[in-house]
Amino acid sequence: MLLDKINILMENQLEIICPSCKSVVLATAFFCPSCGKQLKDKVQSTTLSKKAVVYFVSLFLPPFGLWYARKYLKAGDYESRKIGIVAIILTIISVVVTFWLTTGFINSVFQSLNEINNLNI
Ligand SMILES: [Zn+2]
Repeated sequence: MLLDKINILMENQLEIICPSCKSVVLATAFFCPSCGKQLKDKVQSTTLSKKAVVYFVSLFLPPFGLWYARKYLKAGDYESRKIGIVAIILTIISVVVTFWLTTGFINSVFQSLNEINNLNI
């Protein structure tokens, strides 16, 4: 069945070979269980609360969102890269919305000033 094949594929991706002792290790493992070699640098957290923080920062403090995005994109695994890409998209949206609101605000201020001038005349 197709589903079985997909499962096998996914399981294969979840296993890596230890560079030191060549034993098969779960891709999620930080250390090789047979020789103890460190397999990963500290990975970026992909928990829901961490995601919420990254997305919040991206939306409301745009420059810092890019810093997060860079960190997550560098982490390399699929979930982290996805967070990095979403952080960049949110940053872009935030910048566009801020620009749009600012122009709208400036325009409305100028409009009010014009109206006040017109009233005085
Ligand atoms: Zn090993």
